[in-house]
Amino acid sequence: MEKRISGTTALYSLIGTPVGHSGSPAMYNYSFQKLGVDSAYLAFDISLEKVPDAIAAMKTLNIKGSNVTMPCKSEVVKYMDELSPAARIVGAVNTIVNNNGKLTGNITDGVGFVRSLKENGVDVKGKNITIIGAGGAATAIQVQCALDGAKEISIFNIKDDFYKRAEETIEKLKQEVPQCVVELYDLEDRQKLREKIASSNILVNATKVGMHPHEDESPIKDNAVFRKDLVVSDTVYNPKQTKFLKDAEAVGCKTVDGTGMLLWQGAEAFKLYTGLEMPAKEVEELYFK
Ligand code: NAD
Repeated sequence: MEKRISGTTALYSLIGTPVGHSGSPAMYNYSFQKLGVDSAYLAFDISLEKVPDAIAAMKTLNIKGSNVTMPCKSEVVKYMDELSPAARIVGAVNTIVNNNGKLTGNITDGVGFVRSLKENGVDVKGKNITIIGAGGAATAIQVQCALDGAKEISIFNIKDDFYKRAEETIEKLKQEVPQCVVELYDLEDRQKLREKIASSNILVNATKVGMHPHEDESPIKDNAVFRKDLVVSDTVYNPKQTKFLKDAEAVGCKTVDGTGMLLWQGAEAFKLYTGLEMPAKEVEELYFK
């Protein structure tokens, strides 16, 4: 590493808190080294109150780009000079590109999700998709699927604070992507959930249900909704094989776990930073297996 760092080495970063567990520094530094890019990547523990300072530091130190994680993804939006269409609709940013002091905010989570499906031979274009969840991951996926040509998106969420967020997302999508039909239902309406899954090609869990340490939970209570020609995908990546995916697999569904979304959202950010394709297959072998 010490041989790689010189007076010309560009710096990229991750901001948010906590960041100590993040795999991003390993993933990006490996990719820089592998492709001979004179850059390095560090994680900085930044709380919400420190966001203005972190953005100012980014400009002062000419940090070329930064990933943004919880809890700062929405907060950084107001400091951007420009937003990608998806970041504008979602109202959150996970990748900032600094072009000589001009900051552009992007959100690559949805792109990562769509790419992960594509790598598994599944295209969202023209499809009916049921998405359980209305938080950060879910909203990014809903917006990207709509932008990428999904025909109909049915959102299900419990009646918590995220339900309102889904109502706002739907209003924005009606304006920006009117050709995609997007509707919201209460997750407790199990009859409607069965109905919508029955007419869907793809079913997604984008809630925290099933995430460690609650591995024995699934947002689906009635496994009869799974059928062989339904593609079933989870955003949860810890554990990689959730109960939701195991139950779907038992019926013969094609399943796509959350690690692909994580890998490809990083690859998309890498491309925005460098213009290069991340060596994704090697990164996957090293850090995601
Ligand atoms: P969030 O806090 O923004 O949203 C949480 C969602 O879970 C909301 O829709 C909420 O209503 C729902 N929820 C919470 N408890 C529930 C319950 N008991 N029953 C039903 N729904 C419930 O979280 P997030 O950042 O969107 O993350 C959601 C999941 O996606 C997490 O497991 C996270 O690790 C994962 N994630 C994965 C990636 C990836 O790249 N694979 C990226 C981001 C998030």
